[in-house]
Amino acid sequence: MSDRRSEISANLQHVQERIADACSRADRSPRDVTLIAVTKTYPVSDVRILCDLGVRDFGENRDQEARPKAAAFAAEDGRDVRWHFIGQLQSNKARAVVGYASMVHTVDRRSLLDALQRAAERPLDILLQLSIDGAPGRGGALLTELLDLASAVSAPLTLRGVMAVAPLGMEPAEAFQRVADAHSRLLEQVPAATVRCIGMSDDFEAAIAAGATHIRVGSALLGPRTVV
Ligand SMILES: *Cc1c(COP(=O)(O)O)cnc(C)c1O
Repeated sequence: MSDRRSEISANLQHVQERIADACSRADRSPRDVTLIAVTKTYPVSDVRILCDLGVRDFGENRDQEARPKAAAFAAEDGRDVRWHFIGQLQSNKARAVVGYASMVHTVDRRSLLDALQRAAERPLDILLQLSIDGAPGRGGALLTELLDLASAVSAPLTLRGVMAVAPLGMEPAEAFQRVADAHSRLLEQVPAATVRCIGMSDDFEAAIAAGATHIRVGSALLGPRTVV
């Protein structure tokens, strides 16, 4: 085994143990928590290693990096993986992103929703991004906006649920409880929108306690990033 492969394998095992512990404390099954490996800034060779180790969901936050990475993986590797677009997205990039993404997590305004709806030529899953603290600039919609957006989603897009990032300086448990409350409201309106995508390397235990169905984990799997 190459050094990189053993390093990633050990990291993945540790993350899976943390997931199992958090699930057992929350009386949940690890099968109900999907691990999305965030591969931003890391090469396609790391995607292949993670894929060898059983990971099938990958997250990227910039189209200019994700598009060639997804294309390179698809060209060399027949395995079916899902790319999750988890970064802020400009409407003019919608057409590019629907070319490779299975799920776009960061829909937070009508113009982006409409652009995705126009660009998608096949079924595309989306999440609505909630702004936990209402602060402008980091993306995400307020709950009332989010519920309005939910009623505007139509084919070929399917609304699967909510995504959020805990604001710096707020207790993760408090932040994720707000997401759980908002998600309950969305579920009253769209019962099938069951995805709750919260939690990253440093806070995914709190996210699992708050009902995360998907967690987005980068540095705990691949190591610290110098940029982004
Ligand atoms: C980079 C990123 C992550 C992963 O962060 P880590 O702390 O490295 O696990 C998760 N979500 C989003 C939106 C990101 O941009």
